[in-house]
Amino acid sequence: MTASTFEHATFEELQKTDAECAFQNYGSRIPVAFVRGEGARLWDVEGREYLDFLSGIAVTTLGHAHPRVTEAIAHQAGQILHTGNYFYIEPQVKLAARLHEISGGKRAFFCNSGTEANEAAIKLTRKFHKDNGRAARVEIITTQNSFHGRTYGSLAATGQPKYHEGFAPMPQGFVHVPLNDENALRAAVTANTAAILLEPIQGESGVIPTSETYLQLARKLCDESGALLIFDEVQAGMGRTGKFFAHEWSHVRGDVITLAKGLANGVPIGALLADENIAASLTPGSHGCTFGGNFLACAAALATLDTLFDESLMSNAAHVGDYFQARLWAWAEYSNAAREVRGCGLMVGVVLNKPVARELMLEGLKNGLVFNAIGDKTLRFLPPLNITITEVDEAMAKLSAAYEAVAK
Ligand code: PLP
Repeated sequence: MTASTFEHATFEELQKTDAECAFQNYGSRIPVAFVRGEGARLWDVEGREYLDFLSGIAVTTLGHAHPRVTEAIAHQAGQILHTGNYFYIEPQVKLAARLHEISGGKRAFFCNSGTEANEAAIKLTRKFHKDNGRAARVEIITTQNSFHGRTYGSLAATGQPKYHEGFAPMPQGFVHVPLNDENALRAAVTANTAAILLEPIQGESGVIPTSETYLQLARKLCDESGALLIFDEVQAGMGRTGKFFAHEWSHVRGDVITLAKGLANGVPIGALLADENIAASLTPGSHGCTFGGNFLACAAALATLDTLFDESLMSNAAHVGDYFQARLWAWAEYSNAAREVRGCGLMVGVVLNKPVARELMLEGLKNGLVFNAIGDKTLRFLPPLNITITEVDEAMAKLSAAYEAVAK
């Protein structure tokens, strides 16, 4: 490849060099390379324009190149990028204070990704019980088809055997129960249960909501048994459903919460939040992270959170999300394309009648709309939280045209 760092290579050059030089763990990538974004718009290396209804995967909460985040990043980069956690880091402290306020008093630990946040939550849970004289409590209950990350602890927590294949032995102490099956959850809790770990809405397996009564039961079982309730809000959190934490819809309190993806609008960050008495178990030296809570990520997160609240984007997510879901239902019925629209706010899944999800996603791209396919029948839409009704109308026209082409 000949293009220099600041010059764009052609798409063919990128594809060829990737095939020759990069790990091929992402399989055959979607044949598009984006080079620029603004708001909900993306442009590829050949200058084609797209409407982004995926946001990475729920990452660019404010859309692309949001001026407040860009300014925060540029300003921070011009000041200082790294000192390490031996020292106080001003934006990290400010972000901890912001999350303390948002979460109603939880302490924060910062890392770089969702899997690291869950890894830290698993370690914290076991250490908490050990510190409190309950060393036998090591078992973590999660749900089948959940997704919690790719590092060993989070991978073991992930209830999808296909991701475990070839990586044995898995860390021990994880039990997977069917989602929304209250009897199975009741039966799984034992004297050895350390925590129940739940996504309020399963994202990677196709936007499957965890029912309110199931979340309430999980809370009750934890209260009765002394186990901790951990909410993995890595995908559903940060305002996407219309509330900062998706579990707030069920009025259930979590003891521990993990965040990542949309927290810094695209700059890598993860966070573990926990109540004071639980957080105390990560005693000095027991856990840490070189880049966790670095200046750049925390400055970007602060700008993201300020914008989220100042511009009332959570109520926009709820309002425009309802409109989008209503439009999808109308389209599903009119075109006979789909049998279910599900999710909350701007975290939306559509179950098609025919197994054409990937073809539809590729045809959508040709029409300038970005979304993703999960399995052969489910579409997932995760637009930025400042998406407008007009942009939803535009997306619906593109989706409908793409479906007509695929259904022919
Ligand atoms: N938890 C949930 C609910 C996720 O959706 C994901 C990623 O998709 C993760 C954890 C892992 O996050 P990361 O890819 O940042 O490690």
